[in-house]
Amino acid sequence: MEYGWSDRVLVIGGGPAGMAASEELRRQGFTGNITLLCDEPDAPYDRPACSKSLLTGHARPQDVRMPIDGGLDVRWEHGRRAVEVDLRRRTVLTQTDEEYAFDGLVLATGSYATLPKGWPDGPGMHVLHSVDEAWQLRQDLRHAERVAIVGGGITGCEVACAVRELAREAVLIDPKPYVMGRAVGEPIGALIADEHDRFGVEMRLGRRVKEVERRRGGWRLSLDDGSYVNADIVVATLGEKPDTDFLSGTGIDISRGILCDESLRAVDVTGAHIDGVVAAGAAVRWPNLLYSGEPMMVGQWIAAVEMGHAAARTLLAGDREVPPVGIVPRYWTLQNGLRVMVAGDFKPTDHIVLTEMRPGRRDTARAGVMASYYRDDELVGLIAVNAARAFTETTRAMLIDTPVRVLPQPKSRPEETRTGSGRRLAAVS
Ligand SMILES: Cc1cc2nc3c(=O)[nH]c(=O)nc-3n(C[C@H](O)[C@H](O)[C@H](O)COP(=O)(O)OP(=O)(O)OC[C@H]3O[C@@H](n4cnc5c(N)ncnc54)[C@H](O)[C@@H]3O)c2cc1C
Repeated sequence: MEYGWSDRVLVIGGGPAGMAASEELRRQGFTGNITLLCDEPDAPYDRPACSKSLLTGHARPQDVRMPIDGGLDVRWEHGRRAVEVDLRRRTVLTQTDEEYAFDGLVLATGSYATLPKGWPDGPGMHVLHSVDEAWQLRQDLRHAERVAIVGGGITGCEVACAVRELAREAVLIDPKPYVMGRAVGEPIGALIADEHDRFGVEMRLGRRVKEVERRRGGWRLSLDDGSYVNADIVVATLGEKPDTDFLSGTGIDISRGILCDESLRAVDVTGAHIDGVVAAGAAVRWPNLLYSGEPMMVGQWIAAVEMGHAAARTLLAGDREVPPVGIVPRYWTLQNGLRVMVAGDFKPTDHIVLTEMRPGRRDTARAGVMASYYRDDELVGLIAVNAARAFTETTRAMLIDTPVRVLPQPKSRPEETRTGSGRRLAAVS
């Protein structure tokens, strides 16, 4: 099917994926109508700022808003939440009881944060995903002395940094003995945990929260070792859920995110793709053929943009064959004195080689270290801590080569040392 001037594309979601899809439709010459539904009144904005400058007060909500390019002729419908999709009639119903007809549909609804099941809500209890949630947390931080952060992922660690920067007490609780486990794996996660400890974050690692109760105007968290943490504010950063409820009843497989084929066409529970429906961004699970081909989710800004572009091209291709969408996940984060840069995919079973940038320095992380992850002898992931140049040089090859290839090893045999955990440290000069 070819899309022409009289066709209507409806994009649901006003984050980077939805925006990128709209832009790419125009760039590819689509002249029909594009309507973008977004439930947030202030979208689009720089969501990553929600755990950084918005909390420290370096930015206000109006500073992180992103401009809408009027020249693209995309009709933004703010404050409209899609609540039902009828694929037979090709319509979407919003919570405002309006119906939008479409010929092509782009699903880009991202994810949302919720409190863990059974946790009480109330003043000082926070989750963090939207600019409103960040700004509310910022207001509470101004009057708080002690903040408990539950979940030591990237967002939790960034919140801990912001809290310390504001000279408040921060307690970080996570069931793993290190932080950012899913994002950077164990060896680097342990180095980052040490850095937080040094920065004055009270680390309660290897501990789970068993009970949360309101106490004297604040909160008391009981941990599984019998200890407890009292805090004025609790920030729960225990993972996000893909925003897909509005698709129930459509037949689209939303068992864990919106399941797509390798070109980002949404598929139903039998695996058949659905005509004229594509998806992009953090809500999507798709076989990223750069890696194992097992459907995966990638929750990062750059990936959302790249997926948005690709989904738009797939939509315009109609039934024609399109190349698979391969994305190298990548992002960076500042963790106190450490600039952590990440690219690729990691599994605990991968072979890890740690390379010190300045061997012999006691402070491995601050002096610079890289972790390279190998799977079947191929480099699949790279993490650099304070090693921006080496990271850029290596990832350039990762981004150009498809599929990811084994990188040449240093000519001289690296000097090997052992870390405390018994892992190999390969030092290159
Ligand atoms: C606090 C925080 C910090 C982050 N920091 C970084 C970082 O430093 N680097 C990085 O790479 N990534 C970061 N991320 C992740 C990154 O922001 C996301 O991966 C990216 O925003 C995903 O883009 P998206 O367009 O798929 O979804 P989103 O950005 O979530 O946008 C989806 C939009 O759709 C709207 N929506 C949802 N359901 C509906 C519906 N039914 N109808 C209408 N509208 C709907 C949502 O309200 C939202 O506005 C961070 C995320 C958070 C929460």
